[in-house]
Amino acid sequence: MRNKNQLCQHKDVFERMNYLYQASHLMALKNRVAASYFGNNMVACAKKAVLRMEPNLKRTLCKCCQSPLIPGETARVRLVSKPVKSIKWTCLTCMNTKRYPTKKGYKIWLDQPESVVEMLDFTPKSKNKNKQKPGSGDTPEKVKEQTKNHPTS
Ligand SMILES: [Zn+2]
Repeated sequence: MRNKNQLCQHKDVFERMNYLYQASHLMALKNRVAASYFGNNMVACAKKAVLRMEPNLKRTLCKCCQSPLIPGETARVRLVSKPVKSIKWTCLTCMNTKRYPTKKGYKIWLDQPESVVEMLDFTPKSKNKNKQKPGSGDTPEKVKEQTKNHPTS
């Protein structure tokens, strides 16, 4: 048995990334430069602390300019069948394209049940039991940035 009160490592970085991600999406339609800047900053945070973003989250950022990809707004999404059947995302800010092959029955590693080694609960105990104030909830929406532990990356 491990120590139950584990501290979430790099919690501050995750929170910062969450904030930057939301800020980036907020600015996506108003100021593309700012949106790209926030996305870039977020990727830099992840890089510096050697943290991995959740794949579904990572795919909503342009690989080239790190601006958020919103289908129909900042990105063009098309199905292509030429070399292999895939989904093609075109960033409308920098016109960079990225394609994701759609293989039947294929699941990314994190979606496979074998990838989960251990589930860690980082909810502080004091917030769970003792103090339950009506107004002071935890951060309302935590974007899925907590990468699950997986043996091979
Ligand atoms: Zn781009």
